[in-house]
Amino acid sequence: MEEMGTIRDNVEAINSKKEEVTARAGREPNEVLLIAVTKNRSADEINEAIDAGITDIGENKVQEIMDKYDKVKNVRWHMIGHLQSNKVKYIIDKVSLIHSVDSFKLAEEIDKRAAQNGTTMDILIQINAAREDSKYGITSDETEKLIEDILGYCKNIRIRGLMCVAPFEDDPEDVRVYFKEVKKLYDRYTSQTSPALDFRYLSMGMSHDFEAAIMEGSNLIRIGTAIFGERNYQNGN
Ligand SMILES: *Cc1c(COP(=O)(O)O)cnc(C)c1O
Repeated sequence: MEEMGTIRDNVEAINSKKEEVTARAGREPNEVLLIAVTKNRSADEINEAIDAGITDIGENKVQEIMDKYDKVKNVRWHMIGHLQSNKVKYIIDKVSLIHSVDSFKLAEEIDKRAAQNGTTMDILIQINAAREDSKYGITSDETEKLIEDILGYCKNIRIRGLMCVAPFEDDPEDVRVYFKEVKKLYDRYTSQTSPALDFRYLSMGMSHDFEAAIMEGSNLIRIGTAIFGERNYQNGN
């Protein structure tokens, strides 16, 4: 296995890579926000990342957000994993963006809990661009209907963009086709701004494929392994 640097070294390395790739794409480095994915990581490790300049963290399990919320320094929390409706209530007052909305049922529950909390929740729609059975998300074709339904019925939700998890390919260049498809879909909505539909975020790219994602227009990259090292899945996650 490759030697990993400290968390600070790794954050700095990703930031330089981000600078290099955005320049290549003719974009500004600050157009792309680095979200540190902290699943299976301790509060101490997360705080180390925050000390290294991380402002946003992503978790994929409600339980981990609840366990770590009070132990982590001031930071924005992102829910990036599959979210069960019955757990929305635990995180509605903790996260600033839910990346993984892929059903009307989930949107309705988010809407209800946001109303009770007196807030509007920012969400992204998760697209399963490669139509993999193993992945959550809806297809591009299903997106318009879900967006219409949310706009019609959910008054406490603001749809801010799209998210996708690309298939794993040895050569990340091979997934650019999926990033391209999601970017194209994203662009259809960026001109239709209203209070409830205000597309700003395109969440694509992980440790393995974030360069390709930035080249295709991503502005939120979700990086775990390249910051914290390989995850240990002993505890069943
Ligand atoms: C784990 C995870 C990531 C980060 O993956 P790495 O390969 O560790 O960078 C990004 N997005 C989602 C939805 C994840 O679950």
